[in-house]
Amino acid sequence: MARYIFVIGGVMSGIGKGITTASIARILKSKGFRATCVKIDPYLNVDAGTMNPIEHGEVFVTEDGMECDQDIGNYERFLDENIFAQNYMTSGSVYLSVINRERALGYGGKCVETVPHIPEEVIGRLQNAAAKTKADFVLVEIGGTAGEYQNLVFFEAARMMKLRDPDKVMFILVSYFPIPKLMGEMKTKPTQYAVRILNSSGIQPDFIMARSEVSLDEPRKKKLSVFCNMHPEDIISAPDIMNIYQAPLNFEKDKMGNKILMKFGLRKKKNDMSDWARMFRKSLKTKKTVKIGIVGKYFGTGKFTLPDSYISVIESIKHASWELGASPEIHWLNGETYEKDKKKMAKELGAMDGIIVPGGFGARAIEGKIRAIEYARENLKPFFGLCYGMQLAVVEFARNVAGMPGANTTEVNPKTKYPVIDVMADQKEKYLKKNLGGTMRLGAYNCKLKEGTVARRAYKADKISERHRHRYEFNNALKEVLESKGLVSSGINPESGLVEIIELPKHPFFLGTQFHPEFKSRPLSPHPLFREFIRATMKNNEKKGKNGGRKSG
Ligand code: GLN
Repeated sequence: MARYIFVIGGVMSGIGKGITTASIARILKSKGFRATCVKIDPYLNVDAGTMNPIEHGEVFVTEDGMECDQDIGNYERFLDENIFAQNYMTSGSVYLSVINRERALGYGGKCVETVPHIPEEVIGRLQNAAAKTKADFVLVEIGGTAGEYQNLVFFEAARMMKLRDPDKVMFILVSYFPIPKLMGEMKTKPTQYAVRILNSSGIQPDFIMARSEVSLDEPRKKKLSVFCNMHPEDIISAPDIMNIYQAPLNFEKDKMGNKILMKFGLRKKKNDMSDWARMFRKSLKTKKTVKIGIVGKYFGTGKFTLPDSYISVIESIKHASWELGASPEIHWLNGETYEKDKKKMAKELGAMDGIIVPGGFGARAIEGKIRAIEYARENLKPFFGLCYGMQLAVVEFARNVAGMPGANTTEVNPKTKYPVIDVMADQKEKYLKKNLGGTMRLGAYNCKLKEGTVARRAYKADKISERHRHRYEFNNALKEVLESKGLVSSGINPESGLVEIIELPKHPFFLGTQFHPEFKSRPLSPHPLFREFIRATMKNNEKKGKNGGRKSG
């Protein structure tokens, strides 16, 4: 039977609960166990697909097409395994199931109540995830922090599981220890309060992961041990790190894996983290820096919200760069500003070694992104378009090479004379019925690659499968004309004929994918297309070095 480890946040959010969860799973896997991770989001949204990335971060997509929290991406990257839809739930999805069951007389005339029926549904889902994954350990990350009204029912589910099976359930509190500048001293009181709040929900943490700028010292561990009713050795330091992939290695320095096993009454076990340690060492030993410009719009308020909206893209860039011995320097370029200022654009893009236009929706910043793509095409800058980025590359090519003025995606201009990107047939009806939650073309689809193309060479395979999230597609009615002007459709979905990859020959790297390759890149297995893109940016960097930094091409 599976053992459950609940990971709960204290004091404040955003301090690395997801990375802690993923790291512990990685450690247990490296000891030869089957470990999986579940994310619980307390929102009423039924899935993450309807949430704005600025507010909630990236929407990650699983193989089976669940639109979920970005932490699922962290779990996949750390475990190097696919995580499926059953490992994600929101309050909305849980309540929806319970209410639907009630409408179908599934409760036999009983009064349906928040407690116990909501926690029971949660417990059922956790057990289902354990059964489907055949996991020895299920790590369950509960979103938000202790003391929030929203996640109480999930704490209640955890408490009920512990009551039923005390030896199979464990709690880890990831808490923050501030060091206020004026005091210059690390404070433990906020965490003491967090533990007390948890105690009032009937939960006593087994471990505290102490997130802070620096490691916890012995006097503080002792103090916490008294006030939080814990052994000092169960309080583990988790100081800030520059590279998230270091976390499992650090936790193992504290023997976290064996401590967990022993608390469950299991025997200590050796781990094999050699591949992970090798990857981490490689990330430190890079020989050159490449500048990657991401032209986007989900910039939020200031720079603080940036990384979360495109986290899988950033991680994919890192994985591929480290493998090739490079260190990426990512620049956030606001597509909107390029609509007014072409000079600024040329200056900014000229300094880059490669340009990425990532996924997106709607009309804002579109013309600026199209200009950036035109710049990349004309100046032979490596260009990688992801989903919307690919669609806009087709628009740019149609307008500026294929002689189709005003060509557009019908997402932006439904009346364009040249709808090179058009809404998918089955999506029209969904729009009319306002059936818009979880109804895009989602999850993994097959793609056949054309001989002699960049894509075919990169993948070293002729059939691949990648993950999607879109409502619009390449308009096959205009495919022949575009191809006759030089656009190469190098990847096609064999069932529907949908164009999945476009590229341009006679360019160092100009490629766009209808799918999101970033969802499948892992630190131990970088994505082939990102690898080829980064290889091209490294060549660009060398060339720049040779001609004194003047524009390439
Ligand atoms: N807006 C585009 C579509 O729906 C692209 C989506 C995306 O980039 N994920 O097809």
